[in-house]
Amino acid sequence: TKWVYAFGGGQAEGSGSQRDLLGGKGANLAEMAHLGLPVPPGFTVTTEVCTYFYAHDRHYPDTLQADVAAALAKIGSLTDRVFGDEAQPLLVSVRSGARASMPGMMDTVLNLGLNDRTVVALAESAKDERFAYDSYRRFIQMYCNVVLDLPGHGFEEILEEFKERRGAVLDTDLDASDWKTIIERYKAKVQSETGQPFPQDPTVQLWGAIGAVFSSWMNSRAKTYRRLNAIPESWGTAVTVQAMVFGNMGDTSATGVAFTRNPSVGTHELYGEFLVNAQGEDVVAGIRTPQNITEVARKAAGSDKPSLETVMPEVFRSFVETTELLERHYRDMQDMEFTVERGKLWMLQTRNGKRTTKAALKIAIDMANEGLITREEAIRRIDPASLDQLLHPTLDPNAKRDLIATGLPASPGAAQGEIVFTSEEAEAAKVAGRRSILVRAETSPEDINGMHAAEGILTTRGGMTSHAAVVARGMGKPCVSGAGTIRVDAAKGTMSCGGAVLKKGDLITVDGSTGQVLRGLVPMLEPELSGDFSALMEWADASRRMKVRANAETPADARAARRFGAEGIGLCRTEHMFFEGDRIVSVREMILADDEAGRRAALDKLLPIQREDFRQLFGIMSGLPVTIRLLDPPLHEFLPHTDEEMDEVAASLGLSADKVRRRAQDLHEFNPMLGFRGVRLAIAYPEIAEMQARAIFEGAVLAGKDSGEVVEAEIMVPLVMALPELDLVKGRIVAMAEAVAKETGVAVPYTVGTMIELPRAALKAGEIAGAAEFFSFGTNDLTQTTLGISRDDAASFLGPYTAKGILAADPFVTLDQEGVGELVAMATARGRAVRPDIKLGICGEHGGDPASIAFCESLGLDYVSCSPFRVPIARLAAAQAAI
Ligand code: PEP
Ligand code: MG
Repeated sequence: TKWVYAFGGGQAEGSGSQRDLLGGKGANLAEMAHLGLPVPPGFTVTTEVCTYFYAHDRHYPDTLQADVAAALAKIGSLTDRVFGDEAQPLLVSVRSGARASMPGMMDTVLNLGLNDRTVVALAESAKDERFAYDSYRRFIQMYCNVVLDLPGHGFEEILEEFKERRGAVLDTDLDASDWKTIIERYKAKVQSETGQPFPQDPTVQLWGAIGAVFSSWMNSRAKTYRRLNAIPESWGTAVTVQAMVFGNMGDTSATGVAFTRNPSVGTHELYGEFLVNAQGEDVVAGIRTPQNITEVARKAAGSDKPSLETVMPEVFRSFVETTELLERHYRDMQDMEFTVERGKLWMLQTRNGKRTTKAALKIAIDMANEGLITREEAIRRIDPASLDQLLHPTLDPNAKRDLIATGLPASPGAAQGEIVFTSEEAEAAKVAGRRSILVRAETSPEDINGMHAAEGILTTRGGMTSHAAVVARGMGKPCVSGAGTIRVDAAKGTMSCGGAVLKKGDLITVDGSTGQVLRGLVPMLEPELSGDFSALMEWADASRRMKVRANAETPADARAARRFGAEGIGLCRTEHMFFEGDRIVSVREMILADDEAGRRAALDKLLPIQREDFRQLFGIMSGLPVTIRLLDPPLHEFLPHTDEEMDEVAASLGLSADKVRRRAQDLHEFNPMLGFRGVRLAIAYPEIAEMQARAIFEGAVLAGKDSGEVVEAEIMVPLVMALPELDLVKGRIVAMAEAVAKETGVAVPYTVGTMIELPRAALKAGEIAGAAEFFSFGTNDLTQTTLGISRDDAASFLGPYTAKGILAADPFVTLDQEGVGELVAMATARGRAVRPDIKLGICGEHGGDPASIAFCESLGLDYVSCSPFRVPIARLAAAQAAI
């Protein structure tokens, strides 16, 4: 086995394709060496040695020592130096490098090879004694911390105490002799704490550092990072040893960082900073103001400090060439570190650069247009979830934040306004022209008007599929749910958290993208849908197979859905319309009726309203498919809850308060989500389903007349578990279709289908497909019923479940593919076996989740349906899944 791979001098034993073996850093350095770029020579000890190390009780392979010695000698011959030599000492850095980048998780040692004698040689060659002794003390500190496990603060104390006595404020106030004194104290500390002197033998130092890097693979930081990022422990880390180069050897030396394109806006320009006579840390530490690299950037920044282009024109030219070569080679924007040592350019690192979503879009589109990548690659390079940032207002990242509490990021975007605790207060604020945030323990359908009126919603209970979360996402309204540390006292008009108490009318900001609740008005940035955004969407549309529809019911939602590119409505939750305006009065009248006759009388009042709703919806969607679902929630959700409200309702309907109370009690259920809802309502009260069916058909007839085109309807029955349920309701729908056709002379084309949202429905999907012309997977309920986890109460215990890895992710956000997904796959297969052309879609919240969308593509579903604001995300995710 080859354990060690050398690079440098225009050659490399490894290559960029060997990330698994050499780690990301080692592979990139080898690749840069191959390209003939000036990388300081070095070698990489492979990840296989790491594996061996742990399999053999922390021992190395027999030949490793000789291999490392040979590789060190090679570095020496390329740099005219010798490791441990007192005249021309070779100094090295020792760094970790895993396959996946794990920033800051593992250890690094710089300036290795310094000791009491080599430091003298360094001082001479640099003609700077202060620099040499400063480097030596930094090395001792780093080595002790990383290899000898001595905490850094012990050394900091020695330094601080010395500075105080010396009357020095900054490290730069100290001179060479000061550092020499400090170094003696450091060494004394090592002796007293470890019982051994600080190792002077560079070979001992090197093996200590290599062992420490391998050991750091198992430190707790690294373990946690691996768990959070799903990086297998078995990968191991490589160790890269590389000759040190110094950017602080006088005015012909420098160090800097650069990007091949602007990482915040994406423009095609070399973008970066450097410092003359400095070390890498100095650029990031912010003590000195860095200089621009190009003249263009210097002028744009109005800086009076000269650019690299003017200070070191030769170096600048070769640097520009190098950056262009690297970008062409890696076919992506590069983030590079470089050092100039006495007029010679060295490339220390290159990697694909991190960037904002806006920049990511521009760079992907530009690179495809430049012919550097294909359109499909451009599509694949954008994280669909990141598009959210572009579609909603966001908090200014530079603004100060006063955090009150953190809940779940239930619906993205930032919103702000005065605190209100009821729907009425939210509406009153809106009428008065003031912005508000509706704060509730949890919301119910009757809060719908308040949710419309408020800018954002904050709840203290409930998860990602709680009522507040689902409805807010549907409206595209920012929402933080389940902020459990906040206590709401609506009666007193206060909310408290920790010691803080906020009153109704106080100003807050909620960030539905992070779950943060903040005091006051934090400055926000407005969304801007640039040309790049629509270009990417067009490309995505050309590449995807699945259709993307929206879950929408109000005209406003439907229009938003179309603006975002929805190709129809996959779920119209009719009950959401029951709270618009004063319709709730007739809904309550229907629920409170004593008998069928009373119910029908109330339904007669609802009919024209629903008919008009559907007519509008069909009109807005002009020819695109619209799936309308029959009434689903438990009826008591429509009844008032407080005594005061009950009295009001009783008065407005001319009923006794007692009667209202009794009916509410009758309807009370222990498990309403498993109760009298869905198709069960239509079985018990067929007249409700009939009214809705009539409204749909008559609405379609009217919309057809409006537009002069044929309007089709898809009618969906919720919460079905058995064929006979569907048969019964379908019979009523078919009869109604015939009746309306006879009355109006127009036969509306329609299909009847069902939601698959109960495990039994998935099991019996074959039979059910006998009557259902389409299935729409209601994965919110299907997740709830398959896992036996309430979608409204899960927040309190799901945290530890995902933290401990019992569940990979919140199953209400990302479909549990192994469990719930198996039911979806089974129902798909059984449905198709009976009805090969059955139309299949998903309309649970997972319809807007990229990982779940990929799963839907793998099953060959016809469409996904999600809230309007997620439509662009779904379009991109569907394209990526199809490529
Ligand atoms: C579902 O259960 O997945 C669904 C879409 O219906 P609802 O969220 O309205 O219960
Ligand atoms: Mg459901």
